[in-house]
Amino acid sequence: AMEEAKYIWKNGELVPWAECTTHVLTHSLHYGSAVFEGMRCYYNEETGKSFVFRLKDHMERMVRSAKMCMIDVPYTADELVAATLETIKACELPSCYVRPLVYHGYGQMGVDPTGAPVDVIIACWPWGAYLGEEALEKGITAGVSSWRQRSNNAIPPQMKSSASYMNSILAKLEAKAHGYSEAVMLNEAGYVCEGTGENLFIVRDGVLSTPPVAEGLLEGITRDTVLNLAMDLDIPVVEERLVRADLYAADEVFFTGSAAEVTPVAAIDDRPIGGRGPITKAIQERFFAMTAGELEEYSDWLYEVE
Ligand code: PMP
Repeated sequence: AMEEAKYIWKNGELVPWAECTTHVLTHSLHYGSAVFEGMRCYYNEETGKSFVFRLKDHMERMVRSAKMCMIDVPYTADELVAATLETIKACELPSCYVRPLVYHGYGQMGVDPTGAPVDVIIACWPWGAYLGEEALEKGITAGVSSWRQRSNNAIPPQMKSSASYMNSILAKLEAKAHGYSEAVMLNEAGYVCEGTGENLFIVRDGVLSTPPVAEGLLEGITRDTVLNLAMDLDIPVVEERLVRADLYAADEVFFTGSAAEVTPVAAIDDRPIGGRGPITKAIQERFFAMTAGELEEYSDWLYEVE
């Protein structure tokens, strides 16, 4: 069960958590006509400061996702940034996960959403490491899924829509049934794509590589962050097509995501990789230093909760 917070922002107002409900005939509940984001607010115990990481980039991506599925968001990204900071402050949460959602609400049934209202919520709640605290150090097990990531011409993976996640749910449940914590999805052409809520990187002979967005994957904000951090650390990076065997041959494999952060993979399809390797560790340490506000050069990515 999830931990509750005090308020949820809905259409411009802070509503008490328990009262922020919706009708069962909400359009998006039936057809997945919604887009969303997920991000984290980090608390630095030493400085007493809280920062939402890359808040504006997340809100801009949500507005872009909405545009792709022709949902008109009645707020700008900047307004949603301000609303998020207001909500976290009102909830008095020094560190939390943040979930904004834009959805077709109650008023219209049938696939055509025309006439359904567009509702916007921003919720936050305390949420620890997505794949478990131990996972960040020891790594998780993953399995290549029999479920393929959707092609670029079927619910575009670049669009973070609620409807997309049935695919992730199928892959996640299959992975768990096989005893793994996470799934790696290939695309229809058989190339490595991403996890169910994460992008994926491999390291081989000191080179960091990840599949390009054109393979059909979400252009992750953590993925972009890691590409930047790798360049700072003088780690060579390439965006390249990867096949299943590249995962087995890798020296290191890790997942990235706003929820999953930088999570090492200890084994794939029962082939051991060996937990958190040196490059994964270096990137992970720099990632957490940055989100804690310790890297001056990345202060533009931090949105302080006053
Ligand atoms: N791929 C998928 C399918 C995801 O759901 C996520 C999480 N949003 C990611 C990748 C990672 O994206 P980000 O780093 O922006 O959270």
